[in-house]
Amino acid sequence: MIKAVLTIDDISSKNTPAIVDYLQEKGIPAVLFAVGQNVERYPQEALYALRHGVIVGNHSYSHPAFSSLSLEEGIKEIERCEELLVELYRAAGVERRFRPFRFPYGDKGGEQKAALQAYLAERGFDKLDDRQILYPWWKENGLDRDIDTFWTFDFGEYMIRPGSGVTKEDVFSRICDKAPKTGAPLLADGGRHIILLHAHDETEEMLPEYYKLFVGYLLKKGVEFTEPEFL
Ligand SMILES: [Zn+2]
Repeated sequence: MIKAVLTIDDISSKNTPAIVDYLQEKGIPAVLFAVGQNVERYPQEALYALRHGVIVGNHSYSHPAFSSLSLEEGIKEIERCEELLVELYRAAGVERRFRPFRFPYGDKGGEQKAALQAYLAERGFDKLDDRQILYPWWKENGLDRDIDTFWTFDFGEYMIRPGSGVTKEDVFSRICDKAPKTGAPLLADGGRHIILLHAHDETEEMLPEYYKLFVGYLLKKGVEFTEPEFL
């Protein structure tokens, strides 16, 4: 059996409600990580997500690479998004039980890494329960101790762009890769995963309903999407 928590980055977007509808139809719980600027641009779509039972986490205000920021700038990015999320939950009338955070690009801040982790811990951000993830590299990289939500498998579907040459077939080969250079093989029996997908209208234009295609394929392969739990 393969178990996974689904995470979807960069909401809000025009296609966020359709993604949420699909998750609901299939009974798939998820954490959606919001970029503050995108929430400002598509507030109704973000509200829709919250009102339909997904957890919305913090993915910074403007999606910078944190290693290019000072500690102060990084904290500002997190707090500016946090203010929007507090307001969003209030407007949706939904209690905010969990506050996960994900770094854009998985960039944990370079030299500021320890200070940013201390900040996340001190401010009560919630760590996704990753105790079932037993890949050696997860521990070797300290991911078992970090507060932010990293991932074990990235669809990489955001690379499907005009002129990139990346196609849905590339995503399927990534899904089926038995020895990926980074992350863990997705379809190996006994696998425990945190899976990364994106809510991108640009991908929607290239490949309508891409989320159904890729998530649906995992369902067909017997991947069980579990409720995110936090430590
Ligand atoms: Zn992102």
